[in-house]
Amino acid sequence: MNSGRPERQLPVTERTRHRRLREQGSLDRDRLDAILEAGFVCHLGVEVEGTVMVVPTVYGTDGTTLYLHGSVAGRSMIASPAATVCVTVTHVDGLVLARSVFEHGVNYRSAMIFGTPRLVTDPDEKLAGLRCLTEQAAPGQWDYARRPHRKELAATALLALPLDEASVKIREGAPDDGAGPDAELGLWAGVLPLHTTWGEPDPDPLLPEGVEAPAHVTRRVGGPAN
Ligand SMILES: Cc1cc2nc3c(=O)[nH]c(=O)nc-3n(C[C@H](O)[C@H](O)[C@H](O)COP(=O)(O)OP(=O)(O)OC[C@H]3O[C@@H](n4cnc5c(N)ncnc54)[C@H](O)[C@@H]3O)c2cc1C
Repeated sequence: MNSGRPERQLPVTERTRHRRLREQGSLDRDRLDAILEAGFVCHLGVEVEGTVMVVPTVYGTDGTTLYLHGSVAGRSMIASPAATVCVTVTHVDGLVLARSVFEHGVNYRSAMIFGTPRLVTDPDEKLAGLRCLTEQAAPGQWDYARRPHRKELAATALLALPLDEASVKIREGAPDDGAGPDAELGLWAGVLPLHTTWGEPDPDPLLPEGVEAPAHVTRRVGGPAN
């Protein structure tokens, strides 16, 4: 049915064309957005001085751009604006325990983004990107905490990676060997779900008495982390 909304499909490029486990691939742009919105840690793969480095780092997204930040002295930050990078975001939803070891797997949602990031130098755009990044991990914190001052901004590199070339893979459901010959082994098989939730806030021991955790922090307790 045509909902009147423009079709939101991810373009397929030579780099993002699914090859193995293609049935887990999706071209649905909404699924990409959902995966990116659900997390705040990615892995940035970039070649630095002839060696591939995969660097875990936090990110923020506004739906069209992925923002990454780091020290201006960070080698992956220095290398990235001149290089093609590959960024992944992964959420593990469960262990797929099959009858045979061969069929074991992981239920997951994952995204892979290719591109050449741009170093953000415009001060307003830099603040907006850092806000996006902060709010992705801790909604409400940008307005609560002190914002970065001039020197801190100068020490921070912000990269903007367009979400133009991206792919999605998702695995859901039961093991694949329930209808095969191994079903006769009589072994238990199924999925062990994995849920990540936020715990109770642990106050800094140096906090003076009477400073309570703000509502935007406490309201997340017990809620899903991805
Ligand atoms: C937590 C987790 C554990 C996994 N464990 C294994 C494992 O042990 N063994 C295994 O073979 N596979 C595993 N996978 C799947 C794996 O990520 C690849 O999808 C698969 O192995 C195909 O790899 P390939 O090198 O042949 O890539 P290709 O199929 O050649 O990749 C082609 C293109 O497909 C897209 N693509 C590939 N993988 C992904 C992905 N995960 N997310 C988004 N886009 C993707 C990219 O655009 C890529 O350039 C796991 C995935 C996750 C998230």
